[in-house]
Amino acid sequence: MTNKNSVTNIGVLTSGGDSPGMNAAIRAVVRTGIYRGLGVYGIMRGYAGMIDDEIIKMDSRSVANIIQRGGTILKTARSKEFLEFSGREKAYNNLKKRGIDGLVIIGGDGSFRGAQQFSKDFDIPCIGLPGTIDKDIAGSDTTIGFDTAVNTAVQAIDKIRDTMDAHDRLFIVEVMGRDAGYIALHSGIATGAENILIPETKTDMEEIICSLTEKEKRKKLVNLIVVAEGDDFGGANNVAKAIKERIPTADTRVCVLGHIQRGGSPTCQDRLIASHMGFYAVESLLSGKRNVMVGVINNKIYYTPLDEAVKQKQKIGQEWMKIVKILTS
Ligand code: ADP
Repeated sequence: MTNKNSVTNIGVLTSGGDSPGMNAAIRAVVRTGIYRGLGVYGIMRGYAGMIDDEIIKMDSRSVANIIQRGGTILKTARSKEFLEFSGREKAYNNLKKRGIDGLVIIGGDGSFRGAQQFSKDFDIPCIGLPGTIDKDIAGSDTTIGFDTAVNTAVQAIDKIRDTMDAHDRLFIVEVMGRDAGYIALHSGIATGAENILIPETKTDMEEIICSLTEKEKRKKLVNLIVVAEGDDFGGANNVAKAIKERIPTADTRVCVLGHIQRGGSPTCQDRLIASHMGFYAVESLLSGKRNVMVGVINNKIYYTPLDEAVKQKQKIGQEWMKIVKILTS
């Protein structure tokens, strides 16, 4: 049974940066919505498609055979027009003419800001699902796409380590993470990196140079540094330059992993959390919830107001930083 706040037709969209597992989330939203007797619409290219009226009715078959695919069948985009009231009004009129009275937004913090503003303007309930490889959103232990991205990074770094060991080289690998160091932290720990440089902590280059100089004296400068693209010292190229200036004999190589971290088939964990969150996105709309993000904490569903989810970044536990120091010494 649905209550009086309930929705009748819902729209689902993916917005901002893509992440593996978004398709599994779309599938869960569409199939749960249909099971619950709702009309379900897919909105193409995020807020841009909502403004341009690229909205298609979904049925159960339209999400067949997508759970294992990376990217997003609904495509994703960024929209400058949506930042203006006039753009959001156009978008709202396109929803209204189809009777769409609830939205599920799969995206990152920017997309949630857009959802919040849209809901304020037009009183339409919006539910956010955290779809981002960076895990930079508070209110959930993980985000859709993080596990896949970090496993892709681990597989790549393992391969780099083989050639690094064969040649006694110093490798600096840059992973994604403009504001959050989770991909660097997890992939660095999992590959036994000697140094992990992340935006959340101040990078002490002097200390790194000192330990590398010690190793060089012992004629064994094999060292793996994993750096997040948004580290305060700069990315991998800046780190390499600083080391080369102080230790010119070091056989240094840089590898920037880049966009391979966004693509690929989602891991089992990402498929599961996307399915779990997608199901609860529809259930929460039906129970009258509005403007919350669905998160999973200790395997339980938690709802966080969208404004809190974007304001509070997920913090890196001090315990992890201590463990990293001990295990890499
Ligand atoms: P992500 O969701 O990956 O963080 P972006 O930061 O690019 O991606 O945001 C996605 C889209 O959300 C933007 O292109 C814009 O259309 C919309 N958006 C972001 N912030 C706002 C805002 N304050 N008001 C309205 N729309 C916004």
